[in-house]
Amino acid sequence: MNGINRRDFLKVGAATAGAVAASGLGFDLARANTIKQNLKIAGSQELHSICPYCAVGCSLVAYTRRNADGSTRLLQIEGDPSSPVNEGRLCPKGATAMQLAVSRRRIEKPLYRAPGSNSWVEKDWNFMLDKIAQNFKASRDRTFVAQDVAGNTVNRTEGIAFAGGAAFSSEEGYFATKVMRTLGLVHLEQQARV
Ligand code: SF4
Repeated sequence: MNGINRRDFLKVGAATAGAVAASGLGFDLARANTIKQNLKIAGSQELHSICPYCAVGCSLVAYTRRNADGSTRLLQIEGDPSSPVNEGRLCPKGATAMQLAVSRRRIEKPLYRAPGSNSWVEKDWNFMLDKIAQNFKASRDRTFVAQDVAGNTVNRTEGIAFAGGAAFSSEEGYFATKVMRTLGLVHLEQQARV
């Protein structure tokens, strides 16, 4: 150790260890630089959105590219570093947001299971919306309370509850609340409070 002080020794040791670790793990810096220059999002369009899952409202950046046939391909979704809410970070749930668009397991059509059946059948939206309206009316008719036990007029629907989603805009939340209250619902909740 003649001529080498403790600080120099540590520097040499750290550099040697780093080089050994890099080569041992198969890092090729020249190749890494090439890959960096060919990011899959290079030249893509950058769009900003909000995570639909919870009330934290983390911001997302979606990278898309137009295909030759005019369709749009989603390349990547990640946290928006310019957001004061999440500063580029996403929780594990938000980090999977891209799967909402690309997952092969995503259900793209309404599925209906008839009473007593053990299997799901694909239906169109007209069928489903009619079904929801019919069930809604049947439950409301069955559970509507015009007067409480003290004889006060209350006109409320106790058999149905409504929960709004965190992806609601203020206007959607306002509209949904008005519609539900008009129908007599008193059990209203919002995912943001859960
Ligand atoms: S990324 Fe996670 S914390 Fe942020 S809004 Fe989505 S679900 Fe909520």
